[in-house]
Amino acid sequence: MAEQGKDNFRDTIGTLNEEGDRAWIFPKKPVGKWYEYRKYVSYVLLAFLFAAPFIKIGGHQFLLFNVLERRFNIFGFPFWPQDFYIFVIMMLTGVVFIILFTVAFGRLFCGWVCPQTIFMEMVFRRIEYWIDGDRGKQKRLAKMPWNKEKIRKRSLKWFVFFVISFLIANVFLAYLIGSDRLIRYITDGPMEHLSTLVSLVIFTGVFYFVFAWFREQVCIIVCPYGRLQGALLDNKSIVVAYDHKRGEKEEGRAKFKKNEDREASGKGDCIDCHQCVDVCPTGIDIRNGTQLECVNCTACIDACNIMMEAVDLPKGLIRYASEENIEKKTKFEFTPRLKGYTVVLGILVSVLVGMLFLRNDVEADIFRLPGQLYEYKADNLISNVYTYKLINKTNADIEDVRFELMSHKGNVEIVSRDTFTIPAGGMAEGTLFVELNAGSLSGDKDKVVIAVFSGDEQIETTRTAFLGPRTYK
Ligand code: SF4
Ligand code: SF4
Repeated sequence: MAEQGKDNFRDTIGTLNEEGDRAWIFPKKPVGKWYEYRKYVSYVLLAFLFAAPFIKIGGHQFLLFNVLERRFNIFGFPFWPQDFYIFVIMMLTGVVFIILFTVAFGRLFCGWVCPQTIFMEMVFRRIEYWIDGDRGKQKRLAKMPWNKEKIRKRSLKWFVFFVISFLIANVFLAYLIGSDRLIRYITDGPMEHLSTLVSLVIFTGVFYFVFAWFREQVCIIVCPYGRLQGALLDNKSIVVAYDHKRGEKEEGRAKFKKNEDREASGKGDCIDCHQCVDVCPTGIDIRNGTQLECVNCTACIDACNIMMEAVDLPKGLIRYASEENIEKKTKFEFTPRLKGYTVVLGILVSVLVGMLFLRNDVEADIFRLPGQLYEYKADNLISNVYTYKLINKTNADIEDVRFELMSHKGNVEIVSRDTFTIPAGGMAEGTLFVELNAGSLSGDKDKVVIAVFSGDEQIETTRTAFLGPRTYK
């Protein structure tokens, strides 16, 4: 690889100059097939991101992450602190998913799905191109003294950035406190809810800071996923890669001369036009190999393809490929390894979805009252006293609730009522007696199964211990 001896790119990151100051990146506006595809994907994702907190399923917000009140909705399924174990399993499955996905497909997520990349490259950067112009104009503007043009452009850009940051902060808040509450706060007037207003201002400030100033440094310095790449990628992972075998050949890369016979000259196909570097939003030269800074945004693929077309060389000098593909000069194929990973990823997603659907809408806990012994009753009955706690995770009241013994013959008597209602999203607690015929006990500590019914519908089943005398063992 030409300039391979110059490994000094490893000593610094793309966003710092030699003095260690911020090197502001002015990426050239990407054009090309991949950029177009990414635009369409970003439209869908942005629409989803903005709409999700306002979509309701069965009265539940589609996505809600109310950390303060510990209320979470995922795909319209409400989660309670009691469902925490599902969260833990989901998190573990998610971690395994991310590791396998990255080993197989590299940083596909960063380039196509990550909200940071979507907002930065597909929203804020495009506004910048619209107001400031392309790379050359942006550089000129940055060097310009504060004249009328610069003041006008900068104020317009910062104002638009602020408005979008404010919008994102509102949507973020809708995810946190719920869209209904957000709308109510807005209609009440923000001064009625000062603490929420302060949070909104802080979120707006954070988003503005990230997208107007901090930018690609989020991916390079802050993002833990980005920093894990060195450990997760191997030479079979699919990444945006420069084909150094083709690009350098025996004579290395060289500028293109009109009418030259590139093939016969022994020069590589890279015409050293620097377009792949100019277009890179993280300021790196992909020809130095896979680097931590690369978010796999595909901009360099498009830029290089345009140059290859212009000089009549085959496209794909920079492309999605694994290191092994490039070394062995093989084409990208859906190898058994990739198929295997895809199957495992599919299974993991099914497990997650299955867990969401299999979760119960009602949580029932019945415990023996501490310190109470069993009691003899007439007709050879033995009675134990319990407390019950039922949680309704749905948005509707559950009415006409009663208990039935499933494992033994006997009675369940709720203290001071026959049936009761569990309020929507609420809880019902109380005391109950379980009475069993002493003859039906198999030991001094039987497990009894109690079903919870709403009318004739069985909505939950739970188990609890029943104490009896030792003589009946
Ligand atoms: S190297 Fe290419 S894919 Fe990676 S961030 Fe830069 S332009 Fe995007
Ligand atoms: S865009 Fe392609 S041809 Fe131009 S410098 Fe980059 S790799 Fe070489």
